[in-house]
Amino acid sequence: MTTAIEQTLETYGIENWGAGYFDVNRKGNLIVHPSRDDKRAADVKEIIDDLARRGIQAPVLIRFPQLIANQVRKLQRSFQKAIAEYGYSGAHLCVYPMKVNQQRSVVEEYLREGSRYDFGLEAGSKAELYAALALEQTPASLLVLNGFKDEEFIQLAFVGARSGKRVVIVIEKLSELGHVLRVAETHEGTMPMVGMRVKLYSKGSGRWEKSGGEAAKFGLTTTEILEVISRMQEAGRIDMLRLLHFHIGSQLTDIKRIKNAMKEAARVYAKIHQMKVPIELLDVGGGMAVDYDGSKTAFDSSANYSAQEFANDVIYTIKQVLDDENVPHPTIIQESGRFLSAYHAILVTNVLDEIETVVEDITPIEIRADEPQVVIELGDLRATIGVKNYREYYHDALEHREELFTLFNLGLITLEDRAKGEVLFWDVCERADKFAQTAKYVSEEFDDLRRLLCAKYLTNFSVFRSVPDHWALDQLFPIIPIHGLNRQPTEYATLCDITCDSDGVIDKFVDLHDVKQVLELHKLTAGEPYYIAFMLVGAYQEVMGNNHNLFGAPNEAHVHIDDNGYLIKKVIRGSTVGEAVGRARYDRSLLHDGFRRQVAQRVKAGEMSESEATRLNEFYESSYDAYTYLAVNGKQ
Ligand SMILES: *Cc1c(COP(=O)(O)O)cnc(C)c1O
Repeated sequence: MTTAIEQTLETYGIENWGAGYFDVNRKGNLIVHPSRDDKRAADVKEIIDDLARRGIQAPVLIRFPQLIANQVRKLQRSFQKAIAEYGYSGAHLCVYPMKVNQQRSVVEEYLREGSRYDFGLEAGSKAELYAALALEQTPASLLVLNGFKDEEFIQLAFVGARSGKRVVIVIEKLSELGHVLRVAETHEGTMPMVGMRVKLYSKGSGRWEKSGGEAAKFGLTTTEILEVISRMQEAGRIDMLRLLHFHIGSQLTDIKRIKNAMKEAARVYAKIHQMKVPIELLDVGGGMAVDYDGSKTAFDSSANYSAQEFANDVIYTIKQVLDDENVPHPTIIQESGRFLSAYHAILVTNVLDEIETVVEDITPIEIRADEPQVVIELGDLRATIGVKNYREYYHDALEHREELFTLFNLGLITLEDRAKGEVLFWDVCERADKFAQTAKYVSEEFDDLRRLLCAKYLTNFSVFRSVPDHWALDQLFPIIPIHGLNRQPTEYATLCDITCDSDGVIDKFVDLHDVKQVLELHKLTAGEPYYIAFMLVGAYQEVMGNNHNLFGAPNEAHVHIDDNGYLIKKVIRGSTVGEAVGRARYDRSLLHDGFRRQVAQRVKAGEMSESEATRLNEFYESSYDAYTYLAVNGKQ
């Protein structure tokens, strides 16, 4: 017999996408483990209640840094295992691409664990490089610089090399080489290394397929690669050229495409090596995917391979080509970002309310004989709809609704008539939906109807701030209640955020076989908070999240999982209203002066007392410190 908890585990697919980190305890609460084999567990509902007692309200982004460390270990072990298994004679190093999540706590946790394996960093802009240069790395680790660069960027790279970092400047565009050679002339001491990003013919798969292939934005063509080599030789700087780089896109869903790219890049590497270039590093970029929906397929939000399979294929493929070309095995550099950081962060927030489509239980509808014909007919449909006629009656109801609006627009029926007609219409729809559910074959129109009828849960977050990739790329994230998981959910719902943008909705959910249009959730109970979590949001989401409607960064908590459950190590308050408007260049004193001036005019006009004016001003000014999200119990 399956228990209720087993059933909900299956409903939400936790085992499929959770990578062993997430589970449900006997209380029916969501828990987090530091790794698959570690039985220690933090109860997310307890954390949220604890934070609420400290005045930290939802939405809260909870970080579990141990999950970053564990992903680093998983990656490192997979590659070490593959290297041993295939007798590969080069090493494997990772550089974490900062753009995936530059938050200091994330990068520091990565470095803390990664330093044990000489893992380093990858920076793609001046700002990222500026931050990276101050962080402690092990002497053998690398600092790889991708992205387009100007001379200032390159100067900073030289400064980094002089300060002791093993810097590699990756040439993305031929003009960057000119900067490098010029700066090298004026520079003393340790030089940075130079890499070349090659534009491969092979493409990735999934949403970021465009990042690879001949039309890619980045990288050098074969002719340009040859040009870089000859210019560096002429300048007497060929000893700087050490790395070949490629990156065919993020969230690579299909292992076959990855193997093809490895094959091509390894061949290019071998040919360059044979030209007496002292190249020794092959950087295979990022792209290791996260299985967000748990389906283990080449679907956009999934991946048809495991970390071990990825490592095996990279090592095996590269080794084969290099052995064939008689070239020593290079050190393999990997720039995995998403894989390392996605799991560690979850956004927990509360459902505020339900937005009603069908207003039930206001007053029972009574249909009198003198109602307009259209209302009477809708009433008849409602009274006589059944399993044999529901389809036909549903079509009739659609027609009557059209008629209802036409009559109203012509001024032939009253507002009350219209209201009555609408309620009857939705009632017919609900009944039709119920009959459709019991039918063996449900036509598509009833699928659409179900979506129309499902509950809309108003949820205290901004899609644009916290899961922007859902809005921009239709990426799916697992979403799950953090409590009540010992009860089977009975409602179907979509989620609406609190921005005033109709795009601020979530109506696509992970599913093992398909994409779900509605999510199973529990019925809301008045006065009882209902919390849900957006899972696996640690990669890209925070960084890409924007200020739409001036919703700022949510509250944040860093949680360590220990023998007693959890330890909240750090709490960071989310943006205040004042900080959020500050980003749009509204200065505090400017606003406060502006408000005071208007209030003073009311006083001057004799419309308001001095003491009321003071109260208004104080209230206005205290709003500066308010949380940008909705408060649950009156006050945040
Ligand atoms: C974005 C990026 C990465 C990271 O890719 P993931 O899919 O997050 O692993 C690595 N390298 C380069 C050059 C990138 O632009």
